Amino acid sequence: MPELPEMERYRIFLEQQLIDRTVRDIEINRDKSVNLDANDFIQQIKGQQITAVHRRAKHLIFLLTSGKQLLLHLMLGGWMYYGGDADSPDRTKQVILTLGDRKLYFIGLRLGYLHLLSEPELQERLEKLGPEPFSPQFESLAFTERLSFKKGSLKSVLVNQEFISGIGNCYSDEICFDAGIRPSVKADKVTGEQAAKLYHSIKFVLSSAIKLGGYMDHPMFKGDALTGTYNTHCYVYDREGEPCTRCGSVIVKVEISSKKSFYCPGCQYE
Ligand SMILES: [Zn+2]
Repeated sequence: MPELPEMERYRIFLEQQLIDRTVRDIEINRDKSVNLDANDFIQQIKGQQITAVHRRAKHLIFLLTSGKQLLLHLMLGGWMYYGGDADSPDRTKQVILTLGDRKLYFIGLRLGYLHLLSEPELQERLEKLGPEPFSPQFESLAFTERLSFKKGSLKSVLVNQEFISGIGNCYSDEICFDAGIRPSVKADKVTGEQAAKLYHSIKFVLSSAIKLGGYMDHPMFKGDALTGTYNTHCYVYDREGEPCTRCGSVIVKVEISSKKSFYCPGCQYE
């Protein structure tokens, strides 16, 4: 599932491409991907301009001139492609937005969705989300304190969107590796020193991953050479049986709170 860095890559690119573009047409091939009757959805969006592209946690939000907003969550398996019919991927597209001579294709939206919401509806949908890792609200001392009250493993706390938003299975493991802490440790047993390391690692790993284009397998547009570069930069995620680049020990895979998790037993401590 795309996490904060993948969605931020989409946001940066789509903001450059879509601002002030008019939605000329909409094709809905899967009614369940949208929240309104298809005709109503199309009617409310056709002719609208996109005035901004925001990200909150793993969502993207497209602002329209009407004041309504499109809330996108790609969930597991969803992705987007920006281009034309000649170069678009040979895949089923659940929703297609035509913007001038280009199209934005939404692909693999099985659990993912594109919902048209008013501002209050949007706020309600997002209100339970925890702080954004790069916002001023995500503050080191508060993070340490909140962590000390959490039950369960560090892994399950890091992927808890109400605790902190945007982190999923891959980056939670990479963050724990960077901080030298096992993802299986109980959150309330994490020391102040470890929490300070984690706080730093959250920002460092996520910002590095944004710069490296995240881990999405699919390019965003024709000639896109950056998206997915982070795949080859993972230190532990999906590297079971491979040597640790830091200490040479073999990376192991375990199950924590029914989530697969990877870590190095040689240099990640309890
Ligand atoms: Zn190691």
